[in-house]
Amino acid sequence: MSLLYNFFLFYFLFPLIIQAKSSKINPINPFFENDIGCEKVKYPSEILAPIPYLKECLTTIDGLVVYPDDPYYYHSIKVMNCRNSYFPVVVIYVTTISDIQKSIDCANTLNISVTARSGGHSYEEYGNGGKSGAMVIDVQELNQIDINFETKTAVIGTGNRLGTIYYKLYKDGFLLPAGYCLNVGIGGHATGGGYGMVGRKYGMASDNIVSAEMVTANGTFLSPINSKHHSDLFFAIRGAGNAGYGIITSLTFKIYPIWPIVTTINIAYFSDQIELAFNILAKVAKNLSENLNAYIFLIPKINNNSNTLLINATYLGSEEEARNAAKELIELSNPAYIKFKEMPWWKAVKAQSPPFNRQPFKVTSYTIPPQGFSREAIRFLVNFINNMECMSGVLFDLYASDALSRISVNSSAFIHRNILFVMELETMLDGHSKNVQNKCVKKHLQFSQEFQAKYTSYFSYQDYIDKDLPDWLTRYYGSHVPRLIETKKKYDPDNLFNWKQSIPTELP
Ligand SMILES: Cc1cc2nc3c(=O)[nH]c(=O)nc-3n(C[C@H](O)[C@H](O)[C@H](O)COP(=O)(O)OP(=O)(O)OC[C@H]3O[C@@H](n4cnc5c(N)ncnc54)[C@H](O)[C@@H]3O)c2cc1C
Repeated sequence: MSLLYNFFLFYFLFPLIIQAKSSKINPINPFFENDIGCEKVKYPSEILAPIPYLKECLTTIDGLVVYPDDPYYYHSIKVMNCRNSYFPVVVIYVTTISDIQKSIDCANTLNISVTARSGGHSYEEYGNGGKSGAMVIDVQELNQIDINFETKTAVIGTGNRLGTIYYKLYKDGFLLPAGYCLNVGIGGHATGGGYGMVGRKYGMASDNIVSAEMVTANGTFLSPINSKHHSDLFFAIRGAGNAGYGIITSLTFKIYPIWPIVTTINIAYFSDQIELAFNILAKVAKNLSENLNAYIFLIPKINNNSNTLLINATYLGSEEEARNAAKELIELSNPAYIKFKEMPWWKAVKAQSPPFNRQPFKVTSYTIPPQGFSREAIRFLVNFINNMECMSGVLFDLYASDALSRISVNSSAFIHRNILFVMELETMLDGHSKNVQNKCVKKHLQFSQEFQAKYTSYFSYQDYIDKDLPDWLTRYYGSHVPRLIETKKKYDPDNLFNWKQSIPTELP
């Protein structure tokens, strides 16, 4: 089942199931086992041939080490997207800093490239190396969450997933600004941006990183990395930290007291209302209370039904305040469906998290300037999603807030600030033959290039990574590219951490 269809059912029908986290090392992630849309892949023979001295080199690792001839290997390489298949030469579930240092030492000796993996939610499977033959360092066992109540900060191991973090913080009265999906890993997410339920109020997850710890390419453990120590790296890892600087072991975040009552707002528009809704959104967005945060789904016609535009918002406060905050939007856009519901914070977190099974899919992303779309752009988009053989749909994260735009573009590697939306176009490929999948991806990419050239700003969002994006360095990092390359050269001169879209050591 596709994301969009899942979301549609969930939105009206399904409760969310939170995965329980096992305390012992378990390479079988129950979340990734639900993968009916994924084919069982055959391992290429060169992956099954053992690398001389690799096993000998890794004998002193305390964590679990999984090689291609291990029965667990099949499970240990399962990640969110199964469109591509990359085969690491080894997956190491590290338990200590020393495990990481020993692994990196072996990789340097044997000339194997290294990738960190946190939650395995990269859209391009970069958590598995982004190519076959890498050493994957899985950080799931680095799962501390330590709250400092005085400074209102939390030290969070990069092996944690968002749901675990949110629940632990909630129990202690706090929240962390980060993404909607509870199974996403904090390691790959917060280091590339991280937009979610309180993004318009408190900024991106990366904006709230105050310090980090990392093992670099020569095995050095750097702690702390902050505005005073290794400030070049501190700049880079807030926006490009998931692009090959090293293995980040923990992140310290600014956290915020929870709002005791929040109100979820669900608004729907059908076909002929959609253009007006987009126009009104662009008009009112900059004046919308920052307590109101939202993502918006544009759903194609399903079984001859109309197109649907769903606004899925959360207001930090009571229903009465929420109604007031959404008044202008509702009065001007005249939706077909409106629902307000007060609830405690944790319930809202679960309610706003769309379910998403492991499956094959393709995503491209765009940043939309404050003035929004032309009528022509909306029609072009709607026409495209309605005519895809595979199911395509569009997600818009509502940015447009002072909290995001008052932070200087030069304060970190994250550049997407003065925009209306980050938009992602998703094409779900499950249920189709490989041939049809390839055709759908080709069509998606053709559309994407034309749409981006005509109707959006130049930039794209690096957490919605897309290996087919032309000029991706500039589109993700803007004018920071030379600075990011300098920092890469300093900390990883031999490019140990490398894949198609890792920061290079030289300008391409
Ligand atoms: C279902 C779904 C929902 C999503 N929802 C949101 C959302 O609401 N908001 C949003 O902003 N984004 C969202 N995303 C995008 C998400 O933020 C990115 O895909 C993110 O990179 C995933 O991080 P991960 O750790 O789970 O993935 P991984 O595949 O483990 O890692 C992604 C990248 O980060 C690197 N990395 C991981 N851990 C480390 C580490 N410890 N040190 C250094 N590098 C590391 C990896 O090498 C890889 O290149 C979503 C993605 C999916 C699939």
